[in-house]
Amino acid sequence: MTAALINRETRQAIRERQKRIHTRRREAIFVLLGGKYCVGCGETDEDVLQFDHKRGRDWDINSVSSTTRLKNYLYEAIDGRLQVLCISCNSSKNRPNEIPDNTPF
Ligand SMILES: [Zn+2]
Repeated sequence: MTAALINRETRQAIRERQKRIHTRRREAIFVLLGGKYCVGCGETDEDVLQFDHKRGRDWDINSVSSTTRLKNYLYEAIDGRLQVLCISCNSSKNRPNEIPDNTPF
């Protein structure tokens, strides 16, 4: 086995480990927030669910790594500053006239 192959396999193992950690942290945040559903409409399709900052975010999402982003989300979930919204409800939140009266935010 060549050194290059070992390095490639090592890098792949590291990537897979990081992906597993990322997935576990994301799952933990969903558990803290009560589950994988939109608090606005009840949507459960995970592909469209997002973590939403109830009253905005005081850090730049584009200037941190995905690991730091999830760590921040975790702290915000514990503090009650985060909620789960679907893409549709999250975009409606930014256009207040379109939010139905029964949404909790
Ligand atoms: Zn929704």
